[in-house]
Amino acid sequence: MVEYFIPSWDDIEDSIFNVSEKIIKDYNPDVIIAILTGGVIPAKLISDIIGIKNIKYIEIKFYKEVGKTQPKPTLKAIYVDNLENKNVLIVDDVSDTGETLSAVSRVIELFNPQNIKSATIYVKPWSRKYPDYYDKVVDKWIVFPWDKWEAVREHNEIPVKNKDRFLKSFIRK
Ligand code: 5GP
Ligand code: MG
Ligand code: MG
Repeated sequence: MVEYFIPSWDDIEDSIFNVSEKIIKDYNPDVIIAILTGGVIPAKLISDIIGIKNIKYIEIKFYKEVGKTQPKPTLKAIYVDNLENKNVLIVDDVSDTGETLSAVSRVIELFNPQNIKSATIYVKPWSRKYPDYYDKVVDKWIVFPWDKWEAVREHNEIPVKNKDRFLKSFIRK
């Protein structure tokens, strides 16, 4: 049975501050690269706290369901512009195997930035690529406030707030 870790929006806000404070002490990014889609909300929150308006995006999919993984992520699209000699901060919600952060770092390298660092809210203890900045190590499947309906769609036993409303309104495809 899959065990879940279900942070609230408030937990996320605290964790985002913890991560942002670590970044501010250590690094001065010129541009944030958000990994679509789970990294977008963390990237926006971090960008507003550390005061970096420049956010770009990279779409990479690791087709995994709750708890199940495939061996490699697939790069779908790159929405960045000139990163040459820039300090880049890659942001995602969690590093699990570490494959996504590693693949994104390799792609960003080709733009010849000055520095690449990464930040996530959580990291799994078995990750092969720990981000430079993170808040907590978590060994469960994380259900984020921004992807809980994606998770509940497949696993309607997940105990989240507003589940009844979701199950009443969503259209099964
Ligand atoms: P990795 O490539 O490090 O194995 O996985 C990272 C990506 O998979 C993240 O961008 C995230 O979308 C997804 N992911 C990995 N573990 C979890 C998890 O516990 N919960 C959720 N919601 N997504 C996860
Ligand atoms: Mg993701
Ligand atoms: Mg996701």
